[in-house]
Amino acid sequence: MASASQPYLIDITPDLAEEERLVHASAADFCRSRLLPIIAEHYEAGTFPRELVPEFARMGFLGAPLEGYGCAGLNPVAYGLTMLELEKVDSGLRSFCSVQTALVMWPIFAYGDEAQKQRWLPAMARGEAIGCFGLTEPGSGSDPGSMRTNARKDGSDYILNGEKMWITNSPIADVAVVWAKVHEDGRPEPVIRGFLVERGMPGFSTPEIHGKLSLRASITGSIVLEDVRVPASNLLPGVSGLKGPLGCLTQARYGIGWGAIGAAMGVYERALDYSKDRKQFDRPLAGFQLTQQKLVEMHNAIGKSLLLALHFGRLKQRGKLTSTQVSWLKRDNVAMALDCARTARSILGGNGIMGEFHVMRHLCNLETVYTYEGTHEVHTLAIGRAITGEDAFT
Ligand SMILES: Cc1cc2nc3c(=O)[nH]c(=O)nc-3n(C[C@H](O)[C@H](O)[C@H](O)COP(=O)(O)OP(=O)(O)OC[C@H]3O[C@@H](n4cnc5c(N)ncnc54)[C@H](O)[C@@H]3O)c2cc1C
Repeated sequence: MASASQPYLIDITPDLAEEERLVHASAADFCRSRLLPIIAEHYEAGTFPRELVPEFARMGFLGAPLEGYGCAGLNPVAYGLTMLELEKVDSGLRSFCSVQTALVMWPIFAYGDEAQKQRWLPAMARGEAIGCFGLTEPGSGSDPGSMRTNARKDGSDYILNGEKMWITNSPIADVAVVWAKVHEDGRPEPVIRGFLVERGMPGFSTPEIHGKLSLRASITGSIVLEDVRVPASNLLPGVSGLKGPLGCLTQARYGIGWGAIGAAMGVYERALDYSKDRKQFDRPLAGFQLTQQKLVEMHNAIGKSLLLALHFGRLKQRGKLTSTQVSWLKRDNVAMALDCARTARSILGGNGIMGEFHVMRHLCNLETVYTYEGTHEVHTLAIGRAITGEDAFT
């Protein structure tokens, strides 16, 4: 027998500050009205809706948590809620904003000098300049310390050579944060440094990677560096070593930890509605115990992920969040979302594979999210190391 239904038995709204509620509501409204209607078409065509970049900028999504330089200065929870709403529509759209914000603007903000900040941050916040982050290489993924891209000093310049692979936004980027090994005077081993490599520098190219069956509304490419001459003023002065790129990844993974909840909510809500409408054996799918179990598992997992994100968001606000806790947030929330997407797909039956129902797209996207920004396994090892004191990476 049908009675009144309530899709969520948990509501974090009373725990949000007024500003957080407003940011969340306006992001939700924008994503629902502006992004959801166009996403299936872009996904099928394999195109990134570039015309939306100025709108992302107007919404304050680009560089959202940064202070000054035209950025919104959102606190970590408000920022997380914008990531959630973006990814409720599509992981690829969230990826665009994550890369721009956490992997390009953040390192310029945290490691750059004032001239670099003035040059790039306001333009990137306005969406007039697009950035990408080049760490992964054809032979160097989970083990970024094995990178081969290198920079050698030549007068007051550096000469960069190497190849980066799987780089979100690279074909449309005006600037690439490229991580390369440099031999510095007085050090026997090369050290990893970050460079701002600009579109138009001779020897810099960014061929697009075609044929992706996941994250199709996000543009992905390589970065090829053939004797690219980069002035020393484009070196990020504030960091050296692997902690440079890893620091950026911690920022991005925090946003993914929130974003994945959005993807899970998107597929859960779709499956819940569908299960109430669709009838088999003369009753709605929602009336079958097996379907209810699926819905309950999804609902409960989403609620717990949200509480973890909120708790860690408050820790981040107090400057207390550790990178291992961020590994936990990214690892568990993405795995949770992937499980929800598979379950939701089964509830929709045959319709579950159709683009118009927005479930299979999330499922395919989440396979990438499971792997990028530190694979599920790598985060397992990071947490395992923290709780046992034993390093199982090598
Ligand atoms: C669509 C997309 C966009 C991306 N965007 C970017 C970007 O903007 N910038 C960027 O730099 N990179 C980007 N990446 C790259 C991404 O971060 C890498 O794919 C990821 O780090 C994994 O590296 P890999 O693919 O080389 O896999 P590998 O490192 O080869 O790993 C393959 C498998 O082996 C497992 N494995 C590896 N080491 C261990 C170990 N020690 N113990 C147990 N298992 C292990 C992994 O967990 C994984 O399951 C993107 C990737 C994709 C697919």
